[in-house]
Amino acid sequence: MVKKLEKPMKLKIKKGDMVKMLSGKDRDKTGKVLVVFPKEGRLVVDGANIVKKHIRPRKAGEKGQTVEIPSKVPVSRTMLICPSCNKATRVGLKRTIGADGKSTRDRICKKCSAIIV
Ligand SMILES: [Zn+2]
Repeated sequence: MVKKLEKPMKLKIKKGDMVKMLSGKDRDKTGKVLVVFPKEGRLVVDGANIVKKHIRPRKAGEKGQTVEIPSKVPVSRTMLICPSCNKATRVGLKRTIGADGKSTRDRICKKCSAIIV
C-alpha cells in the first residue's frame, strides 16, 4: 500500500505578502494575500478571483443580496512581489546559522537577493 502523504505543502508565500496574478481573468493584477491554505496549495488574494455570493434573507422582511468576495486561487497562479525591488520574483530559501547554533531559513528574492520578511 502506498502511504499517503498528509504533509502540508511548504509554501513560499505567506499571509500578508503581495502577489501578482500570472494567469486567469485577474492576470497581472496584484493583491495582498489574505488567507493561505497550505494543505490545498491555494490562497486567497485580495481582489483576485472575485466571485459573487448570494446571501439568502435570514429574517423576514430582509432582502437577499449578492456580495463579491475573493476566492481561492492555486499558488502556482501567483508570484510573490519582492518588497525591496518591487518585482514579481521567484523565491529562494537561504539557511543561516545564528550565533546560538540554530539554523533559520529566510526567504530571499531571486532578483535582488534581499531577504523577504
Ligand atoms: Zn527583490
